[in-house]
Amino acid sequence: MLINGEHVSDMDEIEVKNPYNGEVIDTVPISHLNNVDKAIKAANNAKKELQEMSAFKVSNKLYNVCEKLKEHREEFAELLTKEVGKPINESYVELDRSIETLKLAAEEAKRIYGESVPLSAGLNGKGFFAFTQKVPLGVVVAITPFNYPLNLTIHKIAPAIACKNTVIIKPPTDAPLTVMKFAEIVNEEFPDGVINTITGYGSEVGDALVASDKVNKISFTGSVMTGFLISNRAGMKKVTLELGGNDPLIVLDDADVDAAVKGVINGAYLNAGQVCMGVKRIIVQEGIYDEFKDKLVKETSKIKQGNPLDKNTTLGTLISEKAAIHVEEAVNNAVDNGAEILIGGKRDGAFFEATVIDKITHDMDLVVRETFGPIAPLIKVNNVDEAIDVANSTEYGLQAGVFTQNYKNALRCANEIEAGTVFVNKQSTFRTDNMPFGGFKNSGCGKEGIKYAVDEMTKTKLIGLNLR
Ligand code: NAD
Repeated sequence: MLINGEHVSDMDEIEVKNPYNGEVIDTVPISHLNNVDKAIKAANNAKKELQEMSAFKVSNKLYNVCEKLKEHREEFAELLTKEVGKPINESYVELDRSIETLKLAAEEAKRIYGESVPLSAGLNGKGFFAFTQKVPLGVVVAITPFNYPLNLTIHKIAPAIACKNTVIIKPPTDAPLTVMKFAEIVNEEFPDGVINTITGYGSEVGDALVASDKVNKISFTGSVMTGFLISNRAGMKKVTLELGGNDPLIVLDDADVDAAVKGVINGAYLNAGQVCMGVKRIIVQEGIYDEFKDKLVKETSKIKQGNPLDKNTTLGTLISEKAAIHVEEAVNNAVDNGAEILIGGKRDGAFFEATVIDKITHDMDLVVRETFGPIAPLIKVNNVDEAIDVANSTEYGLQAGVFTQNYKNALRCANEIEAGTVFVNKQSTFRTDNMPFGGFKNSGCGKEGIKYAVDEMTKTKLIGLNLR
């Protein structure tokens, strides 16, 4: 672990395993709670020095971090593939996005400012000159999941430092290594204590960080269940929750079928379906249902499952065999209830095949809950009203996509689907790192996307000068 610029270990350790071959890649400490306290103290002590730094300097340092990550792109990508099991080409994309996220934060560090406020518009407010400032919160705790460990953690670290907060990271238990390696780079640029890492189990060290009254903000990405636990434990501190999704993709009769099929291939199978904004429910109108289904099965048959380090592989493993068994159970349960597998459906260790399932009804567990695997479940609907009802029928509301050439139906879906983002003629897995990202309903609260994360990681102070 990295605490106040020093490497710290502890008595017990967790083995980090490659889900493809079971090899132990490395070990990380199970932090004792006194090390959690040390990290909190270090982050608090480092606040002053960081806050006294000019925005110019903070920005330049973030650019330097960005350049260093670029230099080590290859080794980071390889490590990412080894610890997560995702195809190497997808790891390169995560690296490129991480570099872009850092660049956006380096730019944003120079434009964090408030506004002048006309107090004279209020009763007795005449004679004031008043303005706001965006003030850092203090210590930000970043807790992140396994599926995009690097970029999702940078989505917290980079804006937090851009607006001069110090950071403690609790990386994902199954895939902590790229994040810890990245923290080393940040530490080379910034004073000791600005960035700290604490490893161990979420329910112990994560919980201790969340409950601490010396932490000012929890920025969490992970499951709905953990999100609920965190919001109950956090007390008065600010919390941002980026939680699970069960994103719909609606395909209407007038859609460009080939484009929609392409959207599903990306949306359902990317990172073996372990994507919060993955396409998890495919809602297809009856007029094109058969054509769409046949084309989807044909394209799915081209997916190449294999060694994630092989550049030709398009489907790697899930994060663990346990996770793959979980998906297998969900699929078997749907089949027991009348669903029909058109292609795929089998598990081998931590692999699960790219799978298209027909005869899904919107109330089956497979689509009511978030299934984190390479599954494309097809739900047939009669018209746009039914499509919207089905899209809105879960507790989630992260992103959504609709394929149609009809602008009225496109706008109806965009207006009526309850989600943080609705794309027309694009699947929900699309994201740029500057856009406001965050779900409605149980998919979370608060937004990320550098500028929006800065808003969540600062507080507004008003300064009023009485000139009378
Ligand atoms: P998870 O909730 O199991 O774990 C996420 C992190 O929380 C881990 O670091 C874990 O150690 C920690 N944690 C666990 N219990 C804790 C506790 N009691 N207190 C504090 N921290 C605790 O999630 P996961 O399985 O790693 O990731 C998959 C989930 O994340 C899916 O639901 C997925 O949709 C969601 N996700 C959401 C987004 C988004 O931006 N909305 C992005 C990626 C993943």
